Amino acid sequence: MDILAAAEAIARAQTRAGPLLEGLAASGKLPPALVFAGPEGAGKELMAVKLAAALNCEGRGPGPACGAGARCAACSKIRTLEHPDFHLIYPVPHGEIDAGLPLVLESRREDFFARGEFANRARSVGIDLVRLVIEALSKHPYEGRRSVVAIFEAHLATVEAQNALLKLLEEPPASAAIVLVTEYPDRLLPTIRSRCYEVRFDPLSAGAIAGFLEEFYSVEKEEAKRLAALAQGNLRRGISLLDERFLGLWKDAAAVVGLVVDGKKKELVAEAEELAGYSEVRRRNRGYSREDVAELLEEMIILFGLFIRSRDGRLTESEKGVLADSIGAERVAAAAARDLPGDVGKISAALESLRRNADLELTLSHLFLDLTNAWY
Ligand SMILES: [Zn+2]
Repeated sequence: MDILAAAEAIARAQTRAGPLLEGLAASGKLPPALVFAGPEGAGKELMAVKLAAALNCEGRGPGPACGAGARCAACSKIRTLEHPDFHLIYPVPHGEIDAGLPLVLESRREDFFARGEFANRARSVGIDLVRLVIEALSKHPYEGRRSVVAIFEAHLATVEAQNALLKLLEEPPASAAIVLVTEYPDRLLPTIRSRCYEVRFDPLSAGAIAGFLEEFYSVEKEEAKRLAALAQGNLRRGISLLDERFLGLWKDAAAVVGLVVDGKKKELVAEAEELAGYSEVRRRNRGYSREDVAELLEEMIILFGLFIRSRDGRLTESEKGVLADSIGAERVAAAAARDLPGDVGKISAALESLRRNADLELTLSHLFLDLTNAWY
């Protein structure tokens, strides 16, 4: 994937943030510190790449233009994430920046949407990473006009790191732009937020996601439309659906929700046992980890969200189609009689318990029975 071309597609799709950032960059009035805030899969990370290119492209003004056909030297390096003045900071496990950060970068060069290099390990943006930023910004840009620092998943910055960052933001170097990318801006210190210009990102439109899947993942048109309807504004989710493991997880979530709507208590208890891996006679060896189960519950929440929008008559034709395909139209109709917000609340509570290390099978069987309004 041409990362910069992908970033440009996102800039076009983000109809508020895209033109706003382009205007600020072109006018030379870009604030030195920004927060890119918005839901997962809205293209915030790619937009940081686009911003780095906009600030350093050599094709501006008279002279050769720079575009997808022929990139200038600066954009070529930004496209491969190798520009010396574009600093990408990712959370890594404590004490592992020397090995961890290059590992993440290597993986992003191969697949910008990859993640999970440190499967199930706690990661953070620690003070050592912020010191790297401060050191990089203490020098003039090597070859570009303006250094760009993008701190991804900035909400994972420790308090110590945020305090160090705050000092930098109090007197940011004029030759730099610092971008904090996060889904959870309220987890940043208020003192940090107050010094940053916040750019809000919207969920992407289904059309934009379908177009992206076609252009960058060579997905056939009709399939792209179907996946985009399932993606619910989240490009990362749309791309995940190309992955068989995730697709299987989605199908399992749809199967569980089907059983819930049908009120099949016995089957649900069996399903909970099997998902938790405790079943003595396992028909299928699905081997769901705790994280997989959490993901499954998140997919269930998305399905119940679709039920709510269906009841309110707010589904697009493609969404109606994929929902009927996954669950069955008669179940979608039956679900309208349920306390759907209550269902979502129950699943969210179970998700919370899982994150607090509650027993997997117990949590699932309680949840599934609770959703059918039955108890042991
Ligand atoms: Zn360029």
